[in-house]
Amino acid sequence: MRIVLLGPPGAGKGTYASRLTIVLGVPHISSGDMIREEIKAETELGKIMKEYSDKGKLGPDEIIIRILEKRLRKPDCEKGCILDGFPRTIKQADALDEISKVDLVINLNVPDNIIIQRLSSRLVCKKCGAIFNKLTLKPRKDSICDECGSKLHQRRDDKPRVIKERLNVYQKKTEPLIEYYKKKNLLKSVHCDDLMTPPEVIVEKIKLIINGFQNANRS
Ligand SMILES: [Zn+2]
Repeated sequence: MRIVLLGPPGAGKGTYASRLTIVLGVPHISSGDMIREEIKAETELGKIMKEYSDKGKLGPDEIIIRILEKRLRKPDCEKGCILDGFPRTIKQADALDEISKVDLVINLNVPDNIIIQRLSSRLVCKKCGAIFNKLTLKPRKDSICDECGSKLHQRRDDKPRVIKERLNVYQKKTEPLIEYYKKKNLLKSVHCDDLMTPPEVIVEKIKLIINGFQNANRS
């Protein structure tokens, strides 16, 4: 089954997807990772994307959709996949519709204030990439990485002003997809109104939705 995870930046899409991929036995396709792999492998499409990414740009939809099409043809996607970070616009959703059937869209409904609190308290280790959170996932020693002992930093785009800008872009470009998939009868929403809700609880809710979908389609 092919699942799209929809939700604002900081909703936890990556965290949930990486847990669901184990439960469901289908790959987690993060659009960012997929593009980075293509660039690293220096394929024709990767070379085009590199020119954009070097300039700090996202790259054209036509190229991204071709990279996705290629990824979906790999044997590990036979039973399905979890898409994270794609589609981001109605135009991308239309393009996705042409190359692949979507069975279910899970919309992570997280209020802006929760997103801002979560992202502005996030700390990352520049050396090993470990992620901590001043509120929900504290490092053992203040501002020191548990994994490698380096100093932890706040990402530039995790500053409240930048987060608000990212949320504005999401509301304008991506939120219309909620109505889009509702009309197609594919949308299910999961609410998270509490910063301290552990990821397991949300993953459990998503699993229930998926089970419900599978049961309804088996009969
Ligand atoms: Zn580290």
